[in-house]
Amino acid sequence: MQTDFVHESRPGRVVFAAGARTRLLEEVDRLGLHRLIVVCTPEQVGLAEELTSPLGHRIAELHPHATMHVPVAVASKAIARSREIGADGCVAIGGGSAIGLAKGIAKDTGLPIVALPTTYAGSEMTPVWGLSDAGRKTTGRDPRVLPVTVLYDPQLTLTLPPAFSVTSGLNALAHSAEALYAPDGSPITALIAAESVRALAGALPRLVTDPRDIDARSAALYGAWLAGSVLGSTTMSLHHKLCHILGGTFDLPHAETHTAVLPHVLAVNLPAAPQARTALETALGTADPANHLFHLAKDLGAEMSLRTLGMPDNGLRTVIDQAVAAPYANPTPIAEGDLRHILSNALIGAAPTTRPAG
Ligand code: NAD
Repeated sequence: MQTDFVHESRPGRVVFAAGARTRLLEEVDRLGLHRLIVVCTPEQVGLAEELTSPLGHRIAELHPHATMHVPVAVASKAIARSREIGADGCVAIGGGSAIGLAKGIAKDTGLPIVALPTTYAGSEMTPVWGLSDAGRKTTGRDPRVLPVTVLYDPQLTLTLPPAFSVTSGLNALAHSAEALYAPDGSPITALIAAESVRALAGALPRLVTDPRDIDARSAALYGAWLAGSVLGSTTMSLHHKLCHILGGTFDLPHAETHTAVLPHVLAVNLPAAPQARTALETALGTADPANHLFHLAKDLGAEMSLRTLGMPDNGLRTVIDQAVAAPYANPTPIAEGDLRHILSNALIGAAPTTRPAG
């Protein structure tokens, strides 16, 4: 057991229930908010209208312009609209993109965020913001961007296509896996992370069999909530670093990239992180967590080849150069050969193997 640690709890209210979306007015009332800007992606505008209609005149603006990675220009427009309409709060409905835009607004204006997540990405539980400009993504931490209230309604995830449910679930699982060997983890974050892995890995096969299985949807969303909370309270390592570089450099899809990379990083990291390995072995019921997760994702239909996801074969060098250039946390030092090993296996979608000798 870890006996030397610092643990800091983050503020935030969570309402978790099938049907929690109908409590939005109650929660907004509780916060005393009267002029809200609602953000979502263009695809989810119908859902946003439906969920916010009970709020009537309190909705000052429905702003359906969220896109992946929060381009600075998109955030600037949303910030300007928030000011023009005199908003006193922001409601985010959707996945990491919608919540990311709400964070872009909150970072600048300090507006409180009420979030209704519809994927398993977990951004709603973190004080981490991200903005992209000309192919470069900048991230940072600011307590003001952490949503004050999160309404988790598993019914909102019933429409998530099975393939995206799997990759989004693996995206969440990656947060928990890396929290298990985070340099600033604690016994509390380890408990939360292990429970999250157990819930997610158990739910994903059931979701693929029946995407409308509300118990499985609840278990996956519960796992995603826990994963988001450890993502917010610990420092992520090599896996998140590589996914950040891959996404930024080749515009690869976020959840799918996490899914394809995670088993390879775990194969290299877990031998150096015995407590994390034991926790994952127990949570997954396997002696080989890296291969278990690879086959779980692949058998559930996930694309495991970065090449198929859009990474060019000659892109390895760029990723390696960026990874060695910037420092990041990791349970074991990673040499250039390890990076090549991880990335070349992930490029072709091969099963993970431990690091090369020497
Ligand atoms: P997303 O929010 O971009 O959603 C992907 C697509 O799925 C969108 O078209 C969206 O409209 C649609 N969608 C969302 N929920 C749906 C549902 N229930 N049914 C049908 N369609 C639905 O994807 P994401 O993976 O949730 O988020 C990725 C983004 O979040 C990335 O930009 C990533 O960097 C960011 N992120 C940030 C943090 C953080 O802590 N700051 C954490 C995780 C992810």
